[in-house]
Amino acid sequence: MSWQKVLSNNGYRVSGPRRLVMELLAESAQPMTPLEIYQALSQSGRALGMVSVYRALELLAELGLVCVVYNPNGSSGYVAGSAGHHHHILCKRCHRTITFAGSEDLSDLIQRVEAETNFRVSDHLLQLYGICPECQKISADTVEDN
Ligand SMILES: [Zn+2]
Ligand SMILES: [Zn+2]
Repeated sequence: MSWQKVLSNNGYRVSGPRRLVMELLAESAQPMTPLEIYQALSQSGRALGMVSVYRALELLAELGLVCVVYNPNGSSGYVAGSAGHHHHILCKRCHRTITFAGSEDLSDLIQRVEAETNFRVSDHLLQLYGICPECQKISADTVEDN
């Protein structure tokens, strides 16, 4: 289902701010902070107020159309979402972010943790870090082990 359809199916108009933010994130390979979104839109002559950027992100995140991911330094950014249970893998060099499907991905681990802690696990947050194929090529001769 397209993001336009998700918005309208949930009773929201595909308004200027929502469309601009969504189109920008859909084109971006890297997560973007609200400030970066604001700046990118300003530079391309489609200025939005910061408040509009935040409001649009809040709604898009609520509908699962954008996801929050975490950079290696702990700062967070937004990427365009994808349908179904999924997770993100993020390149530590260039911050390119890819989604991967994750059904039943952690069931062994969760069972073990439940047995060890007596918690009942209801949810999880998983994100992987690594070096993307392009960055592996670029730095093949200067690979650091981080
Ligand atoms: Zn990379
Ligand atoms: Zn999962």
